[in-house]
Amino acid sequence: MSFAALAGFVVGALAVLFYRNQIEAPSRTAADEGAASGTALPQGVASVLAVLPSSAVVLDAHDRVLRASSAARAFGLVRGDRLMAAELLALARQVRRDGEIRESEIDVAGHKFGQETTNFAVRVAPLGSYGQVLVLAEDQTERRRVEAVRRDFVANVSHELKTPVGALSLLAETIQDAADDPEAVTRFANRMQHEAARLNYLVQDLITLSRIQGAEPIPTPGQVTIDEAVQDAIDHCNTKAAAKDIALVTGGTEGLRIWGDDELLVTALRNLIDNAVAYSPEHTRVVVSARPAGDSVEISVSDQGIGIPEEALERIFERFFRVDAARSRATGGTGLGLAIVKHVAVAHAGEVSVWSKEGSGSTFTLRLPAFGGTAVAVPPAIPLEAARD
Ligand code: ADP
Repeated sequence: MSFAALAGFVVGALAVLFYRNQIEAPSRTAADEGAASGTALPQGVASVLAVLPSSAVVLDAHDRVLRASSAARAFGLVRGDRLMAAELLALARQVRRDGEIRESEIDVAGHKFGQETTNFAVRVAPLGSYGQVLVLAEDQTERRRVEAVRRDFVANVSHELKTPVGALSLLAETIQDAADDPEAVTRFANRMQHEAARLNYLVQDLITLSRIQGAEPIPTPGQVTIDEAVQDAIDHCNTKAAAKDIALVTGGTEGLRIWGDDELLVTALRNLIDNAVAYSPEHTRVVVSARPAGDSVEISVSDQGIGIPEEALERIFERFFRVDAARSRATGGTGLGLAIVKHVAVAHAGEVSVWSKEGSGSTFTLRLPAFGGTAVAVPPAIPLEAARD
């Protein structure tokens, strides 16, 4: 149920309660007397407010707080018997004057040190006929943040798609103009292929990312053998590594297993190894190694490459974040590789971390839950043929 619907329901329910209190109670209690004078809550209202997930405040005719939910106090909307947000007080007074329900959005500055502004959807309604006013406020900071991230993402995707599509259309025009120069046609056609490949990588990464995000946590986890996943990932990256004479080396403990999805693990490792190769000079080494770590297995990919500046380290897993956009494009990067790695880790209830020093290299470490709850190395299964001999 949306906040507006819930707030509507609560306001309606409280109005009914209030009405009942007034017409049904033949013998008036002390609380009723209080309600009548506007200094106590009408019967039943407190129990309704107690079960509400949102911040709820009831003001008396003199703007004093008669009742405030703990959420309202925790958010700093109420201190003592005072409503702290001036905007809310102004709304409450308007509502008291004309009896009209009002809805609005307000920002409340963080009341604790370092806390950011909280954004509330509010609904203010009259409560009975003694000047009492009900204020319902729903924290929608997180929803707003998610909306903003989504908007940014769509803007970024559009921008990323525009570049290769624009280049393709320009190249097609140029080819038309150079129809009688076969050499130029070949050159431009090659560049068209390059841009089309870039577009293809981007679309593939977008599909992978949305698939992983839709599958958190993993729907059908199982036993995944690390050695096989590492070998699979290395096989995918061999050609690029060989072109730069980069040695892909495995190390650490053999026979470890995790509880997860082998395809996703291979995708994450491939992205890490791809990056290690792309951001390393020729004739270097990339080491992929696994080790047991209590209830988890740690798989690290280390390179001797250009490294990552310290100020960029905390943004490195964001979608489309690149230290050097031109370099990333030149190596066929989409800016989504590490975002995919992070989501693979999250989908496994694991994590990914990075160590890096500019000019020395980087190490990315995936920490994933061990199969069976404890990381133990099992010897490789003996092939049937060998077992029979
Ligand atoms: P890209 O497709 O651009 O490689 P990623 O999400 O995989 O996108 O990586 C984001 C950025 O992080 C890269 O553009 C690069 O600047 C930096 N990066 C990632 N891996 C490494 C690495 N092993 N060494 C140095 N920089 C790296």
